[in-house]
Amino acid sequence: MGYVRGLKCRECERKYPAEPLYVCEYCFGPLEVDYDYEGIKNVLSRDVLTSRAENIWRYRELLPIDGNPIVGLQSGWTPLIRADNLAGELGVKELYVKDDSVCHPTLSFKDRVVSVAISKAAEFGFDTVACASTGNLANSVSAQAAKAKMKCFVFIPADLESGKIIAAIIYGPNVVAVEGNYDEVNRLCTEITNKHKWAFVNINIRPYYAEGSKTYIYEIIEQLGWKVPQHIVVPVAGGSLISKIRKGMVEFQKLGLIKNIDTKIYAAQGQGCAPVVTAIKQKSEIIKPVKPRTIAKSLAIGNPADGYYAYKTVTDSGGWADEATDDEIVEGIKLLARTEGIFTETAGGVTVAVAKKLIEQGVIPKDESIVICITGNGLKTQEALAGRIRQPVKIKPNIDSFEKIVHEK
Ligand SMILES: *Cc1c(COP(=O)(O)O)cnc(C)c1O
Ligand SMILES: [Zn+2]
Repeated sequence: MGYVRGLKCRECERKYPAEPLYVCEYCFGPLEVDYDYEGIKNVLSRDVLTSRAENIWRYRELLPIDGNPIVGLQSGWTPLIRADNLAGELGVKELYVKDDSVCHPTLSFKDRVVSVAISKAAEFGFDTVACASTGNLANSVSAQAAKAKMKCFVFIPADLESGKIIAAIIYGPNVVAVEGNYDEVNRLCTEITNKHKWAFVNINIRPYYAEGSKTYIYEIIEQLGWKVPQHIVVPVAGGSLISKIRKGMVEFQKLGLIKNIDTKIYAAQGQGCAPVVTAIKQKSEIIKPVKPRTIAKSLAIGNPADGYYAYKTVTDSGGWADEATDDEIVEGIKLLARTEGIFTETAGGVTVAVAKKLIEQGVIPKDESIVICITGNGLKTQEALAGRIRQPVKIKPNIDSFEKIVHEK
């Protein structure tokens, strides 16, 4: 086991050993895990993969762990749903939803990255894991640290949805609510990383953490019968998921598991926090930081760590981008629930709303295959729907009272 050659700078390609490092000392570029693809090619085939257990570790050769993983043994392999009802509504032929709102154990896409990061942190010998989070990451780190019996600190913006705060605290970590936005939380955590020997999953362990994102697209490809979709609409926060979707496809091609990649990748953000979308629309590779103002709090990163790579991923693929207003986000959540019976959080409302817009604008053609990424669960962001959904019909506990409301309808 173990096909990791080390870390490599994404900019100058300088090589580093596989240690808890994340920036290049020479050019300050981000470090990325580098694999021995020739070695992996000798052991991985479609048949081998298909025969394995249905979780993220079926792709273990492409994940940066040396031994056996200690958490996430049931993470991943979430449903890819053929969304014919939603397709009908949007007037498209072939539409799918990749549904990480039911990922194990904390109902978001973050369970993939955290499974890898905590398993790796344990291999490095850390006894404490930590993160700077917009919510879902805190939930997953808290739960998986409990399972791994590690100490845990999670840092969140103080104004987070109560569902996300409860879904972190319940596992018994140290939850630190910082009076500031995510970018301020992240800056603080970067300082803490230099003082405490902790594994910050999305800071000093980030190169390993980010690799977990690749499993999302690996699964989509397998679930489509070893095919890539022609279009994929992806939510963007720090820009890790969207860049790794591209990396995952390229790896599968390198390994001979798929032939051509003709996937256009689209970035989706909330209107009050859309630095990557803005850069793509302005065709400028400079990502201008913003102060977040959107109900899509899980995507509210004004200064995204991988913003430039998110931009590159989209433009290199021939894709595009758009943003969703708060109202459109709520409509997106309702539309998915009403048509497909899936209750997603605000980030999912963003991708549904943006997919709808891009289809209506003719940017995404109606007769090609489309995947919408659903990355989190609606029960965690109930505030977003306050006053915007119908109330139950109240009746007296007798049949007459019931018949009256049935007939009135
Ligand atoms: C973290 C997160 C994402 C993607 O985040 P990136 O930082 O861009 O990888 C998407 N959706 C939800 C619900 C998230 O919590
Ligand atoms: Zn470098």
